[in-house]
Amino acid sequence: MRYVMYSDDAGTPRPAVHDGTSLHPFADDVPSLDAFVKMTPAERETALGRLGTAFPAAGVKLLSPLRPSKNVFCVGRNYAAHAREMGSDPDREPPFFFAKPADALLWDGADMPYPTMTSDLHHEMELVAAIGTGGSDISESVALSHVWGYAAGLDMTRRDLQGAAKKEGKPWDMGKGFDHSAPIGLMVPASAVGHPAHGLIELKVNGRVRQTSDLAMMIWSVPETIAYLSRLVALAPGDLIFTGTPEGVAAVQKGDLLEGTVAGVGSVRTKIA
Ligand code: MN
Repeated sequence: MRYVMYSDDAGTPRPAVHDGTSLHPFADDVPSLDAFVKMTPAERETALGRLGTAFPAAGVKLLSPLRPSKNVFCVGRNYAAHAREMGSDPDREPPFFFAKPADALLWDGADMPYPTMTSDLHHEMELVAAIGTGGSDISESVALSHVWGYAAGLDMTRRDLQGAAKKEGKPWDMGKGFDHSAPIGLMVPASAVGHPAHGLIELKVNGRVRQTSDLAMMIWSVPETIAYLSRLVALAPGDLIFTGTPEGVAAVQKGDLLEGTVAGVGSVRTKIA
């Protein structure tokens, strides 16, 4: 079971439960998954008891599952082998963060237009955590209770622009936060899958494995990341955190098919157009 947003016949985004073959739409008073996430557990239960008539999912256009109310955060260099391949020493660095605009998210399965101003577009396969309960200065011990769910995502990067900015001590924003730079798969609720702390994270390009690692290789775990990030900024429901990529980042070309999976969470798929 997945929670999804889909585009109805009139082109209006609507939330639904996806059971694998059919969509079960929420009642009209639940306008979005953001609204659903912000409900109390009892209200969510009620909303799930009032789903509309199911219809086949085939051919329905799925949209980004959550529209972050605040931001898309990303953790930099969170796997030691990736930090090393980027020329850094993973042992001496506290976690650091950057952000992408919320509208950089790309619906799962949609084509990603090859971006402008680059000739070195890189893939970064990542676990994405979605915040359900906001807060500041969240302690590590309760951090996971703030997570609503997870998805597989790609932190697509204009590596040449990022590299040039780094070298000159300038901001990375245009290397990271460009249009369609954050393809993301369907979201699964933690209530259904728990909180994955280990398991395969993998990306295939045109069917060949490019990145493969284990979530256990993260330098900063999801609870540690939330604790640290929430001391820097207040987190809000619908905020997404891209938790960093393992080693094996490399360039993609027009026509390449990217298929990523995170064990127990799901997949993300995009074709570079
Ligand atoms: Mn990344």
